[in-house]
Amino acid sequence: MHAKTDELIHRGAEKVYLVDSPKLLQYQSEPYSKVLIELINEYKPEVVLCGATSTGRSLIARVAVKIDAGLTADCTGLDIDQEKGLLLQTRPAFGGNIMATIICPKHRPQMATVRHKVMKEAEVDTSRSGEIIEKSYGDSILLSRIKVISVVEEEGQSVNLSEADIIVSGGRGLGKSENFALLHELADEIGGAVGASRAAVDADWIVYSHQVGQTGKTVCPKIYISCGISGQIQHLAGMSSSDIIIAINKDPDAPIFQVANYGIVGDLFEIIPALTKKIKSILS
Ligand code: FAD
Repeated sequence: MHAKTDELIHRGAEKVYLVDSPKLLQYQSEPYSKVLIELINEYKPEVVLCGATSTGRSLIARVAVKIDAGLTADCTGLDIDQEKGLLLQTRPAFGGNIMATIICPKHRPQMATVRHKVMKEAEVDTSRSGEIIEKSYGDSILLSRIKVISVVEEEGQSVNLSEADIIVSGGRGLGKSENFALLHELADEIGGAVGASRAAVDADWIVYSHQVGQTGKTVCPKIYISCGISGQIQHLAGMSSSDIIIAINKDPDAPIFQVANYGIVGDLFEIIPALTKKIKSILS
């Protein structure tokens, strides 16, 4: 069958609805949203979730408007109130200063988007089996008023932080753009990518594609090394689910130490070169 349907079942799906057509080869908001609306109207799910990716954001907002449902965007936590059958949708509010839990008691389905990597990936269990329900739709659903002429790869400096296993991130404590070289040197030694706080990005020390946090990327690496970052809630929103957090900061009261598994209190300009040197000597 379809490799993707198997993958969904191995990750925990009991039923997979498959709509397969050459007209759906590339994402286009019009046919994709119409297909989803058809499925929702037919099967009436209680909850509809979608990734808060560029595609997901474009798709699901259109669907929510058409079916007259609410939409809680960019959730960082989801739960079910067993008694009332409500989806509890948690997300930062008021600039990240509070975490709000939002419910939709009146309309169905309850709809939310979830940011990439804020939740752990479901385990793969290849022994699982499930049901695949094939659906097909006519041109009134599948045709788009937009014609894709070509798809062009993005050029320029961009970094795949979201997929990195190790991230070395720098903040205002680095002092200037040139000092990011220290982080690149350490990251190169351990096969990591370089991230940054918004303060470092706003100061033009590094480009936006490296920003971690509420208005940057959400990451979940195996190891996150934070250097000269205080750990404000908006930064934590993008990295606190990392497996191991190592924080280097000269201020012992910096909030980053509250989420760190290992904390090093001291001057990053002494600690990072020493760490890079030690790792180099171990690996050589
Ligand atoms: P600071 O808070 O200034 O911290 C610098 C730290 O470096 C200090 O703790 C200091 O002790 C330490 N330090 C200084 N010198 C040294 C040294 N030599 N050695 C060791 N440590 C040293 N921020 C993000 O990061 N990502 C976001 O996506 C984001 N989104 C936001 C969205 C909104 C709506 C708002 C209002 C804010 C957002 N912010 C975001 C900004 C956030 O509130 C903080 O201002 C920012 O994270 C601070 O960056 P920082 O930790 O690098 O700087």
